[in-house]
Amino acid sequence: MKLITYRSSRGPRVAGVEGSVCVDLNDADSSIPADMKGIMALMPGVATRAPQAMAAGKRMPLTNVDQLPPVPDPEKIICVGLNYADHAKETGAEKPPEPVLFNKLPSAISGDWCPIVLPSWSEQVDYEAELVAVIGRGGRYIPRERARQHIGGYTCGNDVSARDWQLHKPGGQWLMGKSFDTFAPIGPALVTPDDIPDPDNLQVQLLLNGQIMQSSTTAQLIFSVEYLIAYISGICTLSPGDLIFTGTPGGVGMARKPPVWLQPGDTVEVRVERIGMLCNPVKGEGG
Ligand code: MN
Repeated sequence: MKLITYRSSRGPRVAGVEGSVCVDLNDADSSIPADMKGIMALMPGVATRAPQAMAAGKRMPLTNVDQLPPVPDPEKIICVGLNYADHAKETGAEKPPEPVLFNKLPSAISGDWCPIVLPSWSEQVDYEAELVAVIGRGGRYIPRERARQHIGGYTCGNDVSARDWQLHKPGGQWLMGKSFDTFAPIGPALVTPDDIPDPDNLQVQLLLNGQIMQSSTTAQLIFSVEYLIAYISGICTLSPGDLIFTGTPGGVGMARKPPVWLQPGDTVEVRVERIGMLCNPVKGEGG
């Protein structure tokens, strides 16, 4: 099923989506938590109660709710670099023998239709279309064969990247170039795994002002979502609502000749098959 987080006077709350209407699941069934991390902690069991809540609850037109990022407050955002062979090649990197991991600060989270704000401190802001896996039940040392039970859902993400900061600052790590405010748009909805029978075969595309810039499928991933969960949980405890940005296919702006950088007035759209379309306008700081 499709879940969104919406703004209410009681704080951010989760609604299930059916067509053009949505239902506040906790209002319909108080045993379902009101917030996304609470629901993720109880996946997959909680999903079995959602259809009844959907049928019983008060229906709200989707157009009347103010949507937030599906996980507005993730504890961690862990990203995988160079996880598609064609993207590794276009950046001049070797196909990595094990996952290249980095992170984005959770303060960079943003939602559907929220502007990507170009920082005045960067002149090379780029896009990266990605499938984002959301952790359900948390854990440490999760074996690969049980990793799927820890996926709470999927959403679309744009790993917006200031290449001048990512690649050309002393120290050689990527955190700052990936973490400017608004550099982690996700959404619009979280889709639970029962709707995604084969996460390893989903089309991933990015459109810049309507033109296709990236187009691939998750069948091209070097390291699968299950592999990544097993690997990352060997390092740190994964918590409900943690986000794994699984990597981007070829076609990023920095690899083009001449390079393509995001400009004020652009519109960037990430499409992931069966999951949705995440659309963000681009604007300058203060403009
Ligand atoms: Mn990325």
